[in-house]
Amino acid sequence: MPDRQIPPPRLEVHALERQFDGVPVLQDVSFAIPAGQVTCLLGPSGCGKSTTLRIVAGVDMQDRGKIFVDGNLVCDTVFRIPPERRAIGLMFQDFALFPHLSVADNVAFGLSGTGAQKRARVETLLKRVHLSRHIDSFPHELSGGEQQRVALARALAPKPGVLLMDEPFSGLDERLRDDIRDETLALLKEEGTAVLLVTHDPHEAMRMADEILLMRDGKIVQRGAPYNLYNAPVDRAAAAFFSDINVLKGAVQGALTKTPFGDFLTPGHPDGTQVDIVIRPQHLKIDFDRAGRGPNPTVQDGAPARAIVERARFMGRESLVEFRMEFDGQILRTSVPNVFLPKPGTAMWLMIRRDRCFVFPS
Ligand code: ADP
Ligand code: MG
Repeated sequence: MPDRQIPPPRLEVHALERQFDGVPVLQDVSFAIPAGQVTCLLGPSGCGKSTTLRIVAGVDMQDRGKIFVDGNLVCDTVFRIPPERRAIGLMFQDFALFPHLSVADNVAFGLSGTGAQKRARVETLLKRVHLSRHIDSFPHELSGGEQQRVALARALAPKPGVLLMDEPFSGLDERLRDDIRDETLALLKEEGTAVLLVTHDPHEAMRMADEILLMRDGKIVQRGAPYNLYNAPVDRAAAAFFSDINVLKGAVQGALTKTPFGDFLTPGHPDGTQVDIVIRPQHLKIDFDRAGRGPNPTVQDGAPARAIVERARFMGRESLVEFRMEFDGQILRTSVPNVFLPKPGTAMWLMIRRDRCFVFPS
């Protein structure tokens, strides 16, 4: 077998620790991003996302841990390359363009080389983000979305191996956001940049990320492709981060837990353990065929359960229906495609997709 040289990851972060006033804000944060990959650091406000980014950028310093770019040490707690020499691009939420510089000069700002070389790179990038006709405009003459695309072009102009983005789309209105996200993604892939994108928005992370790092209280609690995080969450909070959830509560008795939908197999928990059985609204189904026929416990998906409609709302692509369970009075939510608006007080049967339930100790 010939020796195949595997290139080191573009960005590698190893065991970062950071405290502020004795309070740990980052604990054992490690990850690697190869060229052309978008990794999203996702988590609620205050969990340590921006701190991680600022340390990688070099504007804050870790108490422990190492950072490598293309296999070369960029900083540990002794050695430290200054931010401007890290070949790392930055794009932050308040991506201020220089107001007194034209679009062309903004994009050319970090470039070296001859005037002609700079001009060529600027033209290529502006063409790529569909702003060629604004090359001589000033920032105040552009819309928010256009300014954002100039900022992206400026960040990518010096061909950084790594691009750090901190909530870059949150200043844009929603209509624009999806288009700009998709366009940004296409350009980043073309340039082969390794991207670390910080966001608190799970939809943004799912739309942009090859890999998601789910962060909570300064730690990465789960990592993987969006599909894996959505379909195999590590705990109840991880499940709830991506969608509304229903939680059936119960106590394990002989590896079984009683629910409105019959006994659930909940192996691996000792008797008496309180468990949460978590299910997303789209996996709780209304059993229209069962109306008037009563329960049938031999059904593979467990027993159907009777429930009374509390309220129903039309959401555009789907309707959300809230039910009160006859079994124990708890409220469960389902989502039904298109329009389905039953009257409050209507009795219906609900079924549960057992293969879509997650069981966690409470
Ligand atoms: P996120 O970007 O995930 O919202 P941050 O990384 O900005 O979170 O902050 C993480 C935690 O560290 C927060 O509790 C914040 O208050 C704290 N923190 C951030 N920067 C500083 C600082 N310079 N001094 C003290 N505490 C800070
Ligand atoms: Mg932040």
